[in-house]
Amino acid sequence: MPKNLPIFLLCVCALMAQAQSSQQTQPKSGPAAQPGKTAPAQHSAPVPASPANATPVKATTLKFSTDTIDRTADPCVDFYQFACGNWIKNNPIPPDQSRWGRFSELQERNREVLHQILEEAAKPAAGRDAITQKIGDYYAACMDVAAIDSQGLKPLEPELARIRDLKDKAGLAGELAHLHRGGVPALFDFGSGQDAKNSGEVIAQADQGGLGMPDRDYYLKDDPKSVELRQKYVAHVQRIFELSGETPERAKTDAATVLRLETELAKASLDRVSRRDPVKTYHRMSREEFEKLDPDFRWSAYITDSGAPPFHSINVAWPDFFKAMAAEIQSAPLDDWKTYLTWHLLHSEASLLPTRFVDENFDFYGKTLTGATEQRPRWKRCVDFTDDQLGEALGRKFVERTFGAEGKERTLKMVDALEKALGQDIQQVSWMTEATKQKALVKLHAITNKIGYPDKWRDYSSVQIRRDDAIGNAMRADQFEFERQLNKIGKPVDRGEWEMTPPTVNAYYDPQMNNINFPAGILQPPFYDNQMDDAVNFGGIGMVIGHELTHGFDDEGRQFDAQGNLQDWWTPEDAKEFDKREACIANEYSSFTVAPGVHVNGKLTLGEDTADNGGLKVAMMALMERLGAQPQPKIDGFTPEQRYYLAFGEIWCENDREEALRLQVNTNPHAPAKDRVIGAVRNSAEFQKAFSCHAGQPMVSANACHVW
Ligand SMILES: [Zn+2]
Repeated sequence: MPKNLPIFLLCVCALMAQAQSSQQTQPKSGPAAQPGKTAPAQHSAPVPASPANATPVKATTLKFSTDTIDRTADPCVDFYQFACGNWIKNNPIPPDQSRWGRFSELQERNREVLHQILEEAAKPAAGRDAITQKIGDYYAACMDVAAIDSQGLKPLEPELARIRDLKDKAGLAGELAHLHRGGVPALFDFGSGQDAKNSGEVIAQADQGGLGMPDRDYYLKDDPKSVELRQKYVAHVQRIFELSGETPERAKTDAATVLRLETELAKASLDRVSRRDPVKTYHRMSREEFEKLDPDFRWSAYITDSGAPPFHSINVAWPDFFKAMAAEIQSAPLDDWKTYLTWHLLHSEASLLPTRFVDENFDFYGKTLTGATEQRPRWKRCVDFTDDQLGEALGRKFVERTFGAEGKERTLKMVDALEKALGQDIQQVSWMTEATKQKALVKLHAITNKIGYPDKWRDYSSVQIRRDDAIGNAMRADQFEFERQLNKIGKPVDRGEWEMTPPTVNAYYDPQMNNINFPAGILQPPFYDNQMDDAVNFGGIGMVIGHELTHGFDDEGRQFDAQGNLQDWWTPEDAKEFDKREACIANEYSSFTVAPGVHVNGKLTLGEDTADNGGLKVAMMALMERLGAQPQPKIDGFTPEQRYYLAFGEIWCENDREEALRLQVNTNPHAPAKDRVIGAVRNSAEFQKAFSCHAGQPMVSANACHVW
């Protein structure tokens, strides 16, 4: 699995979160799934199959421009069309992509830089440093399709044999520990994390898991689209079994077994909206209590074989899942479990297996689920796998090439301005009492900033990377990550750690750390541009910073205090007023549709929508503070206020396939790009003033929602 994000981590963009959506979906290429963590997308930017249809990004396009504007549109009628209409018309989705937007453009450019680094690192020249050797050989092994094809399933044979040779159900525990160590996320997740109520303590964590489709709902819903997807999933599982050498009859039976077992796990899983509530996923218990949830499962064997250090306390995100798992292990025969584990092994490694597996995997997870029509070129996938698995080794080289000290400094200045603005906003809101305001300000001032890249780079020296062993490399890198996570148990929290790699075009707020994090990858045009006026930069990276800060005070973040502990610091009246305002936002976004009858789930996207609305407001306040009372000249015919909103709209310019939108509203905590822009400006009196909109126009909400 690609890099997994902690359960509470809140980021700005859907690219990675799309990934996040599919915790159990993704075939492997990254660290093992950790409890309560989610995996990145099926490389949300699937890409071209041949250089001919590659998607080059000209450096010149990566900056704010009024060329994106559709001047025939009225900003007060459809601001998204106004800000993005021309861009949308001129930037169709490449066949290998499920969506194409300004985030993707920058992501592509960063990927090009990584590509150059890896092509050079892959040359087996004498004198390569240790980091260059690791990333270069990892990439070279991944790119060697001829070798991978000629080996067939041989590299996986020892793993397949272990499953085949299981003698009894007592052996399942040890086998699951072994698979989890190798990055195969079967049945449940196990790892470590900060205790939600004592953020200074790292304890063991166990969570639901074990599904092959992106969410429990895909197993449980009965609308025609869900039924159709389920049929296609079973057909896909069957074909993977056939490719592994089973007869069609046997493969068909086995696929039905997989669906049956996964459906039982899905029924026992907590739904995605509930999982956003940190109270619902907090069940700290002793190790003995945990083991009693499934007394027949040999937990001692699992824990010993997993390599976890001795521990006494564990958070079980959803205990009912483990009770149901106990019943299911009891009732299904051993052979069914062997089938299930074999599927998850093949599924998890599919991206690095011979071409026939890769193509079949793309057919379901790329074509069917996201609508992409062609697979991305191999090099893009291998770049992403390297980023997923050896991310801070590759990221170190990326930073050397792209990010200077001035990048850090200018970002810190923006952060200071945004923190000040949010502080003023908190003091000004009418609905909150002084007592809660003071606590909110304490929390705001306790937020720490991480900019660009880690102070201390992760040391991969213990990971053996071989030039001729793509699958082995992936499993060893996964094992490194799994061990790294488990070794945190009982140790002091590492506050310098990053959950995203430096080239990532995204940013996040971590409520348990109470910090905001901006990878080098996003601190570039069009988000931040030295050549541009303040209005454009505040509408770009300024709004992103405001978004992340506001996450500390959204429906989820507000439940954590300044120290990152799940502890209620609100008066009951203030909490009630907050909930009332949040309900307004949830209703507003739930009214948006992405396909006939398919609505945005405003409860799932509530935290992100709150952060967008708050971020847009406080970044405007910070801009006004920066510009002062002096009248500012128009640029390109627009006032600074107008350019601010245009820059905000423009970073979300995007084309999406319907399949991708359906997947997004089912699984992603971010609303589609268009709705994020329209939802926020409809609530903004400053926007309406900037474009002289009047009551009754579509971009003026009659019932504007305001939390922050
Ligand atoms: Zn966010």
